[in-house]
Amino acid sequence: MDKIKMTTPIVEMDGDEMTRILWQMIKDNLLLPYIDLKTEYYDLGLEHRDETNDQVTIDSANATKKYKVAVKCATITPNAARMDEYHLKEMWKSPNATIRAILDGTVFRAPIVVKGIEPCVKNWKKPITIARHAYGDVYKAAEMKIPGPGKAELVYTAADGTETRELVHEFTCPGILQGMHNITPSIESFARSCFNYALDTKQELWFATKDTISKKYDHTFKDIFQEIFDKEYADKFKEAGITYFYTLIDDAVARVMKSEGGYIWACKNYDGDVMSDMISSAFGSLAMMTSVLVSPDGNFEYEAAHGTVQRHYYKHLKGEETSTNSVATIFAWTGALRKRGELDGNAELSAFADRLEKATIDTIESGEMTKDLALITTLDNPTVLNSEDFIKAIAKRL
Ligand code: NAP
Ligand code: MG
Repeated sequence: MDKIKMTTPIVEMDGDEMTRILWQMIKDNLLLPYIDLKTEYYDLGLEHRDETNDQVTIDSANATKKYKVAVKCATITPNAARMDEYHLKEMWKSPNATIRAILDGTVFRAPIVVKGIEPCVKNWKKPITIARHAYGDVYKAAEMKIPGPGKAELVYTAADGTETRELVHEFTCPGILQGMHNITPSIESFARSCFNYALDTKQELWFATKDTISKKYDHTFKDIFQEIFDKEYADKFKEAGITYFYTLIDDAVARVMKSEGGYIWACKNYDGDVMSDMISSAFGSLAMMTSVLVSPDGNFEYEAAHGTVQRHYYKHLKGEETSTNSVATIFAWTGALRKRGELDGNAELSAFADRLEKATIDTIESGEMTKDLALITTLDNPTVLNSEDFIKAIAKRL
């Protein structure tokens, strides 16, 4: 059999720990035997990020602008423990935050629905797609520890030197302080990506913030969405038979629980981070959630929504068997390959992505799965496979 040819590379961002192990297994068993795989490789493993002073992350994001399609492995976001573990020069920022800041755009996360893995919320019949704003707020915040009494203010100095001040707090004791921001163009492109994605997938769009409490910050998000909707999308939505619905974040959370699913829930950056983990675990497993960052100028970065699965990696290092679910990482690859196929007019490549997804789903539905799924499946007598054998079972079907 001839291998499927590629004309343009995909940007490949390798990562850390257990997902780095899965990454290689997926390539060896599911991709390289069938595709003449063309990638531009960037090693975002923490050691290499540290060696390059994180330049590799910036380079990989810029390469994504050039080639338009990237696939990323989960990566460690350093914290104090990681500083010691990896003897880091600096507590490097989250690679995802760095990449998102360069590409802008919106992250769409949707659960991979398979028979036999039923959502905890029994009225959820269809996937709920979370659209996470990918710029600013707490992820780009400036923070201070306040040592004692004093005045904290927000100060904006305009280009002409004029100052505007707003008192945050008159401290009489030690405390903490945070200043965050967002920018109108990013909120606008967030709104447009959401409206476009809703039209593309013919799903309703929900959006929620805390505008009653945050009368300027959150209210601006609400206003921008409404203005863009009224001006550019109201007619198209009507034609498509879908609606745009705004409500308060706490009301949205309550409604989501009572809903059937089948819509896109647009969230501010932090809400999206938190809610996507709730949605994915309630739909089955963190390992069954796809994620794609779509930028306004048409760049796509695919990844799994979960982390590096550290606990499993430590078992793996000790030579113990692991049963880590590779589905979301496989779907990151299929998402990228399908998009590459679409952009290059390479139907064979897109068809391969479809077949690999089907082989993956069929493997689980026939009862062969990793431990996380075996624990929650409604199928009788599932076969629990280890990390590698699960990938090999998919390869066999493929
Ligand atoms: P995690 O890697 O998502 O894992 C949390 C737990 O969820 C695991 O211990 C495991 O539970 C379960 N799990 C997640 N993915 C699984 C899979 N594929 N198969 C089976 N079980 C799975 O989150 P974390 O442990 O909080 O974070 C580890 C590292 O990942 C951190 O350094 C963090 O910075 C990073 N992270 C990266 C990204 C990203 O690159 N996008 C996202 C989130 C976190 P059991 O242990 O109970 O089996
Ligand atoms: Mg998160």
